[in-house]
Amino acid sequence: MSEHIRVLLSEKEVDARIQAIGEQISRDYEGKQVHLVCVLKGGSFFMCELAKRITLPVSLDFMSVSSYGKDTKSSGVVKIVKDLDESIKDKDVLVVEDIVDSGRTLSYLLEMLRDRGPKSLRLCTLLDKPDRRVVDVKVDYTGFEIPDAFVVGYGLDYDQRYRNLPYIGVVEFD
Ligand code: 5GP
Repeated sequence: MSEHIRVLLSEKEVDARIQAIGEQISRDYEGKQVHLVCVLKGGSFFMCELAKRITLPVSLDFMSVSSYGKDTKSSGVVKIVKDLDESIKDKDVLVVEDIVDSGRTLSYLLEMLRDRGPKSLRLCTLLDKPDRRVVDVKVDYTGFEIPDAFVVGYGLDYDQRYRNLPYIGVVEFD
């Protein structure tokens, strides 16, 4: 079975939207330093592009998590594979994610980060699939709401491939 990628959101559309979110964040956090927390690996492309468009002091940190269990659906019980390097206590933390699907992973993650005492904690996601939501998660900044399809590109993979696509595409099988 071969596969091909259908463009869902072009590079130009994604760039323009990230620019707009960067401007919005720069207004909302005026006078503050934004501490971006990237969830690896998917969030890394979006985080770099977003950081470049924020016109305030920005610091960055990374964490990597994996769901317990071998189910393709996330279980919501999250194992920290790589924790943050720095404390987030009293910082204005903005978690940067590639996509919110069921919401299980992020709901767990946000609760865990909240317990570490940040001054503020918000969530920014490039993509949101609201139809798939199982656990309620408050998303503060959303790039695009998309239908329920498996997407790749801009950090999102299919079997570790396609992360480097500069647009968002849907995997289709021939
Ligand atoms: P959730 O806990 O919200 O169900 O899972 C979110 C995670 O599932 C994302 O961080 C991402 O790794 C993965 N995921 C959900 N939908 C997609 C998709 O359409 N494409 C890809 N590549 N990963 C997805």
